[in-house]
Amino acid sequence: MLIVMDKKATQEQINSVVEAIEQRGFTARPIPGGERVSIGILNNKGHVDASLFIGLPGVKDAIHVTRPYKLVSREFKHEDTIVQIGDVSIGSGNLTIMAGPCAVESEYQALTIAEHVQRSGAHIFRGGAFKPRTSPYSFQGLGEEGLKILAMVREKTGMPVVTEVMDLEKIDLVEAYADIIQIGARNMQNFSLLRRAGRAAKPILLKRGMAATIDEWLMAAEYIMEGGNSQVILCERGVRTFVHHSRNTLDLSAVSVVIKESHLPIIVDPSHAAGRRDQVIPLSRASVAVGAHGLIVEVHHAPEEALSDGAQSLYPDQFENMCRQVRSIYNDLKEGNGL
Ligand code: PEP
Ligand code: MN
Repeated sequence: MLIVMDKKATQEQINSVVEAIEQRGFTARPIPGGERVSIGILNNKGHVDASLFIGLPGVKDAIHVTRPYKLVSREFKHEDTIVQIGDVSIGSGNLTIMAGPCAVESEYQALTIAEHVQRSGAHIFRGGAFKPRTSPYSFQGLGEEGLKILAMVREKTGMPVVTEVMDLEKIDLVEAYADIIQIGARNMQNFSLLRRAGRAAKPILLKRGMAATIDEWLMAAEYIMEGGNSQVILCERGVRTFVHHSRNTLDLSAVSVVIKESHLPIIVDPSHAAGRRDQVIPLSRASVAVGAHGLIVEVHHAPEEALSDGAQSLYPDQFENMCRQVRSIYNDLKEGNGL
């Protein structure tokens, strides 16, 4: 249930409602909005009697939340969440582009790619230091050395960095270096990692599991928010189907469903969806057209030499072209109020 406070409700009235909720053994979660505060009721096993709260001073309404996810849902928070990292805003009203190699391979590689993508208009640099690879014989990432290279790229370019954490053991380390912590598709339901991410002081980029429904994905985001971290960015990256023409199948309908269901920002990763360079630009255009708040794209200055995912990495000039195309689509939509 969501208790909606009056626009003019005082802090004392809000505190009394919180107390009344907690006296009944529930958890109260105040959610500040643009105009008014709402208070979410969590940890109720069954139906909550609205009349317990409706008459309290400062209470305007009590709404039953019908969705299994609460904190991530629009029923709980109507206004879009904007995740702010320095000067970069992620969420409604922005088209945020994250780009870089699949994996950080060397100082030279990371900085060369970072300078290229920044010139084309990327806002955030991506690069894996810990890589979830299908084969234990494949390149596993540079580990902490990779994180140090990311910090150097941030220092030299001013771009925030996003990088993946694979397990609980390394999250303190990744949190210390990253501006955004990525939880990858394979870890979307790693509940202990999600709970720890809920206590992180950095935003979380939560990728959709390759066989996850939208409900399961939003429930995974709920774990993070329930832990106290409201800075969550969702990322659609394709789901496993029977096709052979691409690595996964990009589920663009998920973008519009998520925007309807949740206030959280949603971006698209066309690179891991496609698995092939030639599909990345068309899928990027489509992602922006469907309303995504941003993209995360793999780019390499020499993809044929890349230690991972070279086949899906764009050349720098292709990335520049992509940026121009998606910005033009985004501006057209914005001017025509299509967003
Ligand atoms: C990645 O972004 O490097 C990655 C491994 O992606 P995903 O978790 O979507 O496969
Ligand atoms: Mn990759």
